[in-house]
Amino acid sequence: MSTLDFEKVKAHIDVPEEAERLLSRSEREIHFSLNLLLHPDGLVEADAYVVYHNTARGPAKGGLRIWPTVTLEHTRDLAELMTWKTALVGIPFGGGKSGIRLDPRKFPPANKISLIKEYVHMISGEILSGGYVPAPDLGSTPSDMAVIYGETHKLESVTGKPPRVGGLPGREEATGYGVAHITALSCEALLKQSLTGRRIAVQGFGNVGGWTCRFLQKRGASIVAVTDITGGVHRDSGLPIDELTEHVERTGGIRGFQGDAITNEDLLAMDVDILIPAAVENVIDEHNAEAVSAKLVVEAANGPTTSAGEAILNRRGIPLVPDILANSGGVVASYVEWRQAKSGAMTRKEETYETIADQLGAAFHRVRAVCRSCRITDREAAWVCAVGELIEALRDRAWIPPGT
Ligand code: NAD
Repeated sequence: MSTLDFEKVKAHIDVPEEAERLLSRSEREIHFSLNLLLHPDGLVEADAYVVYHNTARGPAKGGLRIWPTVTLEHTRDLAELMTWKTALVGIPFGGGKSGIRLDPRKFPPANKISLIKEYVHMISGEILSGGYVPAPDLGSTPSDMAVIYGETHKLESVTGKPPRVGGLPGREEATGYGVAHITALSCEALLKQSLTGRRIAVQGFGNVGGWTCRFLQKRGASIVAVTDITGGVHRDSGLPIDELTEHVERTGGIRGFQGDAITNEDLLAMDVDILIPAAVENVIDEHNAEAVSAKLVVEAANGPTTSAGEAILNRRGIPLVPDILANSGGVVASYVEWRQAKSGAMTRKEETYETIADQLGAAFHRVRAVCRSCRITDREAAWVCAVGELIEALRDRAWIPPGT
């Protein structure tokens, strides 16, 4: 089943039946067994997948997830999400994803390298052709991407590499930069206020949450509450994000940082201007959405709001900026890295930031215009924009009949 509600999109734009059929299923799904003989574990076999959801607009772009819960169904959903994101923010990629069903935490570094090399060998046709372009995701790292490059000797075959190995200055913080930029635009458009002085609560202080906090603070917002898997902290006067980052790096989590200790439930219900879930899926649901007191929710994580939770926020008039818009800074940076690799040019960090701001800013204004003209939510408007763009691409590619 699609992660996007076509009925809601069809209420506002004409979706040819052929386009809906093509966009409702993956173009190609590869299921293979990754087998490694390791010492001292013996033979390790893992189910692995590559999904091409749609490549009408360019190569299938999406991360490599190495996690014990990886399934074909979930890999398919994540590939589909990439199709909507790349179309919405207007970069020349399609949607893809790959996954290996293994626990990477149980792999010593030498074995992880063997695993990545075997993954490349098994799907060398996909990666060398440039048809699928991996990047880091849960359980895989920039240095794993450097190992992929080491196997292909083609810089553009993979993104998210370390900056010294063809990676991009600014890639690490790209998603957080984009979340902060979209939060500033949303604050002005939806709350009719500038970001300066706004009180913000953030769930998650990893790559996305941590950088989002740093960029928001730089822009004058006050981060008053943050939680992670170890605990949470609140300070009404605003948290010193640099000190908190140092504490998390030193101790492994937020717990123990000076301030009032809080739980996730406290954070979600906190009386703030903006709430940013930046950790995991399905945290705002029908059980806690009534308690949300923020005036605006910005989805930095993928899928942090359930549809029942979202219906409650809609009824209560709390606007929600959807994940496919808010957290697309990372995939825009991947595009800049891919372009850099193809051209041989070097990129400055400021150029990375500028491209993210341009692409996300343009998508934001397109979404706002559709919200206004169709009187629909930001999520529905983002779907309308993404599907509209894909229909045009399907026509350009002659994948659907002309004039439909
Ligand atoms: P990460 O592993 O670096 O950080 C995750 C953070 O969430 C950590 O601080 C962790 O402690 C916290 N966390 C985990 N479970 C929690 C819980 N139950 N309650 C509170 N906090 C919890 O991951 P990340 O890269 O920052 O990704 C976060 C989210 O953003 C994910 O949904 C991911 O799919 C999405 N995302 C990430 C990127 C990217 O470029 N990293 C891009 C797009 C979307």
